[in-house]
Amino acid sequence: MQKIISLCKRRGFVFQSSEIYGGFKSCYDFGPLGGEMKNNVKRAWWKEMVQMQENIVGLDAAILMSPKVWQASGHLTAGFADELVECKKCHKRFRQDEIARLHKCPDCGGELIKARKFNLMMKTFVGPVEDEAATTYLRAETCQGIYVNFENVLDSMRMKIPFGIAQIGKAFRNEITPRNFIFRTREFEQMEMQWFCEPKQAKKYFNFWKEERIKWYKNLGIKKENLRAIEVPAEKRAHYAKQQIDIEYKFPFGWEEIEGIHNRGDFDLSNHSKASGKDLRYYNEETRERYFPYIIETSVGVDRSFLAFLCDAYQEIREGRTKTTKATKETEVLLKLDKKIAPIKVAVLPLVKNKPKLVKKAKEVYQLLKPYFVCQYDEVGSIGRRYRRVDEIGVPWAITVDFESLKQEDVTLRDRDTMKQERLKIKDLIKVLREKLNG
Ligand code: ATP
Repeated sequence: MQKIISLCKRRGFVFQSSEIYGGFKSCYDFGPLGGEMKNNVKRAWWKEMVQMQENIVGLDAAILMSPKVWQASGHLTAGFADELVECKKCHKRFRQDEIARLHKCPDCGGELIKARKFNLMMKTFVGPVEDEAATTYLRAETCQGIYVNFENVLDSMRMKIPFGIAQIGKAFRNEITPRNFIFRTREFEQMEMQWFCEPKQAKKYFNFWKEERIKWYKNLGIKKENLRAIEVPAEKRAHYAKQQIDIEYKFPFGWEEIEGIHNRGDFDLSNHSKASGKDLRYYNEETRERYFPYIIETSVGVDRSFLAFLCDAYQEIREGRTKTTKATKETEVLLKLDKKIAPIKVAVLPLVKNKPKLVKKAKEVYQLLKPYFVCQYDEVGSIGRRYRRVDEIGVPWAITVDFESLKQEDVTLRDRDTMKQERLKIKDLIKVLREKLNG
């Protein structure tokens, strides 16, 4: 794991928040490459869960909501709280379920004080007066914004059940023990889809979405042996869930949840109806019945799936991959990210940097491709070194402009995974790369 964390910092994927002030625990900043990659993860999810679907629409709700929402959703009561234990000696706090079998503090061996409930909602104040009336919370899950807009979306988009509403956005939880890099943080991002259906269809759709979601990870290159779906028993389920499956990924620190699929029943709409006084039942025009739809939720953490994609793609090759030259015999890092997730799609490299004509031609190719693909131009160091550098950040294709290019108007296109090179006319590059990217 340490090697991945160090790659993230070295190559601009992820930085510790407020690093120059000694860091701000449990918050991270995504650097130039991490930002691109995170956007690609979100884009891939949105394409699959909204664009490609006939009856799922998107939403972008505010992070701050009326505190009444959180009262009704059960987040301000025991439902959304972890059991906390505290060490009498060093006063460190731990989640009870994480150190369940220990009777002593794992850090200093001190005595642990009995568990108590700790609410995970992050409080904030809205307006200039810091009193109770102005208190609200940073949302702990994006889906509440969907439930309170159920009727707005239904009416404005003329939706008919079954249908879904999807959203990507920030969520905040005052986690007791944030850990494992970006795996558990206090500020994170979620991609959630809420599927509204007839209660008797809920089981069928639960299974359907479970399969679809597992397929999504596999289609984006996650190895099937590193994925599993675990049925969560009643006593461990979220407070709203009638049925729950956790999709887990085998991280270097063990199997951990990256996505939850929940059958939330009518918990959310019925509670919001009760608390708001607004009838949120769905009216079936054919049967003339009103009922609360059941909700099947698919909820992924952007940061957690980002970490899973990185871990799955990371490879170290001792003594390097190039067997034909003696140039590099050091350990090479190869990030075999799916081309859709890779932050940079194409690198443009002049063979050498001290030939102005070659550099000019390479810059022309770079400018030509830039509007279509996220590109990088690099002229520093030997060509072998530059290939290593782009392999390390997962660039799927590297284009080299050489002396032939000046005469023939062509370049070599190198594939990251096979290292095979093909000669292509510059005028065909956009078409060929587009086909490769979408193929
Ligand atoms: P955990 O048991 O790991 O705390 P959870 O069951 O509380 O997670 P859900 O409420 O089901 O998580 O949230 C759905 C998804 O949101 C999770 O699968 C995860 O990917 C993401 N997520 C939840 N909490 C965090 C966090 N603190 N940091 C990063 N991602 C998170």
